Amino acid sequence: MSETEFDIIGRYFRRQPVKRKDVLTGIGDDAAVLRLPVDRELLLCIDTLVADVHFPAGTPAAAIGHKALAVNLSDLAAMGAEAAWATLALTLPEPDPVWLEAFSGGFFALAGRHGVQLVGGDTTRGPLTVTVQAHGFAPQGQALQRTGARPGDRIYVTGTLGDAGLALHLRDAAAAELRIRLDYPEPRLDAGSLLRGLASAVIDISDGLLADLGHLLEDKGLGASLQVDGLPRSRAFIAALQGLDAAPAELYYELPLSGGDDYELCFTVPERCCAEVERRLGGLSCGCTAIGTIEAQPGIRCCMQDGGSYQPAATGYLHFQGGDHD
Ligand code: ADP
Ligand code: MG
Repeated sequence: MSETEFDIIGRYFRRQPVKRKDVLTGIGDDAAVLRLPVDRELLLCIDTLVADVHFPAGTPAAAIGHKALAVNLSDLAAMGAEAAWATLALTLPEPDPVWLEAFSGGFFALAGRHGVQLVGGDTTRGPLTVTVQAHGFAPQGQALQRTGARPGDRIYVTGTLGDAGLALHLRDAAAAELRIRLDYPEPRLDAGSLLRGLASAVIDISDGLLADLGHLLEDKGLGASLQVDGLPRSRAFIAALQGLDAAPAELYYELPLSGGDDYELCFTVPERCCAEVERRLGGLSCGCTAIGTIEAQPGIRCCMQDGGSYQPAATGYLHFQGGDHD
């Protein structure tokens, strides 16, 4: 190894855009020393990305840096938390300076936009693996959870669905806008914090709408009806499908329902709070769309505007509908 582990850390991970007052000791000592706000609860989450498992081997290093942090910030967003600190465990086959420059650039660009400071980590040699832990705060008792949905609550999603799934499906032929959605997902932290006190349940969509909505239902054995032709689809998504000859109709429905990696929020809102939610999230660039209703009868029923029903192909959904909640 031409550079020592210490050189790598010093060069690439100490230069960062955010310097928070609550970081008393950051990178460089045996542990970080952080000041906790007295009136807040601390929220912690961690996610690992493994090359060839969670991202294709050829993914740009900047995108890997962005996404490793973004998937964690998306989890904090789904809890209604404000992001504060992160730690990074990085396993690298070799200390490639070009790769590290791009990786840290992608990581810090996103961290900078959300006021997140990297406060420590670990660097080891081995197959490319990136683990990020994110730390955030929420006012006491106000963290949003997965378990509060009730029959009659309206179901919403932020942004648009299916873009990342279509980029994966089209691979190199994907339009740039769709690739950006796959490689640089935007954690919906603003939307999450605006939902505090209004949403009854929230989850971020990492595995696809049907699978993740299923998690909001499974605790109390609830069900839902979804309006599948009313799901929000981006202009880039529709344009890319129009350019295809084979089976666009199936992709038009299946990708928004089951394509993962969108990192939008899916949430439920009691009827009396819907107007306020729509007003608040209407002021954000991602916006939000009502897509269905929570029902007492278990299972997810997909409806069409013309009154017909749609039978999704996704196995995650069938598994759930069968009443097996493992
Ligand atoms: P130790 O052997 O005491 O664990 P290290 O040499 O692993 O110390 O790390 C030295 C300092 O650099 C620590 O403050 C650690 O948190 C930080 N650090 C190591 N790797 C990373 C990384 N990938 N990102 C951020 N900080 C790191
Ligand atoms: Mg160490």
